[in-house]
Amino acid sequence: MTKLKHTSSPSEKLSTAEYNVLFNKEDFFQQVIDSIEDYAVFTTDVDGNIGSWNTGAQRLLYYNEKEIIGQNASIFFTPEDIMLKAHEKELSTAIRDGRAKDERWHVRKDRSRLWGSGLVFPLKDDDDKIIGFTKIMRDLTFRKLVEEEKSSLHSREQRVFAQVEAERKRLQSLFTQAPALIAILKGDDFIVELFNPLFRKLLGNRSVIGKPMRKAWPELRKQGMFELIENVFKTGKSEFRYEYLVRIDRRNNGVLEDAYFNFVFAPSKNEHEIVDGVLVFGFEVTDQVVSRQRLKISEDRLQLAQKTGRVGTFEWDLRSGKMLWTPELLSLYGIETSTVDENGYEWQKFLHPDDIDRVQKEARHCAKTGESFNSEFRIIWPDQSVHYLSVRAQIIKNTKGKPERMVGVNIDITERKTIEKNLEFLTEASKLLSSSLDYQTTLNNVAMLAVPEIADWCTVDLINKKNELEQVTIAHKDPQKIAWAKELRSENPPNMNDTTGVAQVIRTGKSLLYPHITDEMLTAAAKSKKQLKLMREIGFTSAMIVPICREKKCIGAITFVTTETRRRYNETDLAMAEELASRASLAIENARLYKGSQDAIALRDDFISVASHELKTPITSVKMFTHVLTQHSQQIGDKKAVSHLTKMDKQINKLTELIYNLLDISKIQAGRIEFKKKVFDFDNLIAETVDMFESYGHKHKIEVKGKTGKMVYGDDDRISQVISNLIANAIKYSPRAEHVVVKLSSTDNHVKVKVTDFGIGIPKEHLERIFERFYRVYDETDKTFPGLGIGLYIASEIIRRHNGTFGVESDIGKGSTFYFTLPVQ
Ligand code: ADP
Repeated sequence: MTKLKHTSSPSEKLSTAEYNVLFNKEDFFQQVIDSIEDYAVFTTDVDGNIGSWNTGAQRLLYYNEKEIIGQNASIFFTPEDIMLKAHEKELSTAIRDGRAKDERWHVRKDRSRLWGSGLVFPLKDDDDKIIGFTKIMRDLTFRKLVEEEKSSLHSREQRVFAQVEAERKRLQSLFTQAPALIAILKGDDFIVELFNPLFRKLLGNRSVIGKPMRKAWPELRKQGMFELIENVFKTGKSEFRYEYLVRIDRRNNGVLEDAYFNFVFAPSKNEHEIVDGVLVFGFEVTDQVVSRQRLKISEDRLQLAQKTGRVGTFEWDLRSGKMLWTPELLSLYGIETSTVDENGYEWQKFLHPDDIDRVQKEARHCAKTGESFNSEFRIIWPDQSVHYLSVRAQIIKNTKGKPERMVGVNIDITERKTIEKNLEFLTEASKLLSSSLDYQTTLNNVAMLAVPEIADWCTVDLINKKNELEQVTIAHKDPQKIAWAKELRSENPPNMNDTTGVAQVIRTGKSLLYPHITDEMLTAAAKSKKQLKLMREIGFTSAMIVPICREKKCIGAITFVTTETRRRYNETDLAMAEELASRASLAIENARLYKGSQDAIALRDDFISVASHELKTPITSVKMFTHVLTQHSQQIGDKKAVSHLTKMDKQINKLTELIYNLLDISKIQAGRIEFKKKVFDFDNLIAETVDMFESYGHKHKIEVKGKTGKMVYGDDDRISQVISNLIANAIKYSPRAEHVVVKLSSTDNHVKVKVTDFGIGIPKEHLERIFERFYRVYDETDKTFPGLGIGLYIASEIIRRHNGTFGVESDIGKGSTFYFTLPVQ
């Protein structure tokens, strides 16, 4: 080892003894240095190259003297320190301060690390020139490691502590502020051990800690929740419930409300893994569920709306009376937002006076019972027009089952109702049109029927023979207005050459529809200022004019006008009006045909009357001459002539009967038939009449059964004529039979005669009509049973005019029974 001189004075850190040991006693010094195994002592030159190396250095840094001498002392520095130039800094500190003290990690030969605490001194020669350095270093690795371990343990402890604290705070805030509901129920009686504030608030702030759950929340009984919790406790298995409906007492006042929750019920276990309670963890999702339900309702409404066209929804709070008017609803009532408040009874203000009582009653009933409200009613818009609405509403009840809200839709059904009304009117009008053949009266009735349901004014114009327009009908609910309108018309009579209105419709055969009459239209149509003024006063809203045509020729027109009811006609209404006009034209045509046939009948009756009258005198003369001739032929014995004359007399009798019958018809028609009434013995009259028939020598036997024993007041000749007619028909229509039965009976008031034959009978469908004039079951071409169809007509008229009754019963192929009754004297 190189001998060095150390000139530095002893410092407080190094005692004098140490100093001497280290620097002044050279040999001793060397030995001592070598013997200090706990200290590494080595010297370097000014560049740091190692010059001497003691045993301690070898022990501490593992290099032996041989291998380290000449190496630079920076070899013991860690790469980090080298980067920081710690080695150079250490030497310069030593030069500057006379020593450099440090503690740092050093690198051993085997690259392991050693925590060394050392001192570096500069070595000077006798000229005080620095010739190198001495470094003394102690191994404090163990202490350092212990310290480090201690400090890391401490900081770990600090960290863990901080973590635990944070965790605790987090749990605390989770428990108190969590938006979740948390409760811990302990033991098999489920004592409420923990219950977070949110949960407590939800259930009306009740103090429930320490109470068994069934006592804490008695309202949850019978809702399935307790059983669920008990089951979790029993099975140890968690349960989940999604949008679970629970009826809770939010205000702790006994009122239950529906609420929805997502719940987890988890078993809580003790350290032995044994279930000792249940953890309830939940979120309230009522708002989401309700809004989804609302959405569903509104979707349903929307769907309904799409299906039905004009729809407005409403929501009426029955407790507060407030109503939510949607913009669509407002438009259904013809109002704007600003004009309606949210008072739920507001809508009733619009009800038509005729519907108000009924609809209010229906609504009240539904609000009370919770039944759904389905109705139809009319409303009057602020512009006075009438609209039909249909309401479909549901009542929503609170948890106690009390109706709370009415939610529903209003649908405008005006169009459907109008069509229904139109059809109803058309049906009624058609009935009227076919009920009478007097078309003037009928058209009048139809026009009256149209007012006021279909129109405020309804007029019918027909073209008369002079090709002028004639107003045959005018209808309005106010008779005064009719008089006034007639006057107006007489002042300004319409002309067939007019280019507008009725004249135009009749000329072109095309209907006119004025859905909305404007003031310009009135100005254009008015013929004078006065007329324009009047027309404005009337306040026309809408009009339609339809032609009445017959075989392509128009004979008139029907006009419908609305004023005060403010109805506006559309194409549907026009179609109805056109249909009515075509039915009216049929009615007019029928009436015309009927009148034609009536005229023909009258002409025929006139002819019959005149002809039969004219024939009566000559036929009487002919009969008289035949009689004279027969007597003469008998006297001269001309048997042939007698035979011919007898046949002729029979024919004359038939002709006479026919003429008298025709005369009777004329008299009946003209109401001129006369009866020579007297009291007579009814049975005698029957006997005489039957005898007369026997004398004609028929093959039929006429049997008279029974008696009346009554006197009758009447024209015996005419009544005999009736009986004769019935017996003659009985014989005529039973050619294969051999007898006819005449049965007599009576009551205190009546005598009754029944004439029964066993002949061909009468088909049922003819029975009612055989008493009509000229009605025959078989037509004129049928030669089997000749006749004119007038006998029964005359007979029934005679009986009718004697206040009797007449009737018939018949079976085809079996025979007929004609009967009549007469009042007794
Ligand atoms: P007619 O001259 O045709 O007999 P009536 O007025 O006496 O006229 O009778 C009207 C029609 O009633 C007859 O055409 C006949 O078809 C029917 N009729 C009347 N009496 C009888 C009867 N006893 N049996 C069947 N048909 C009868």
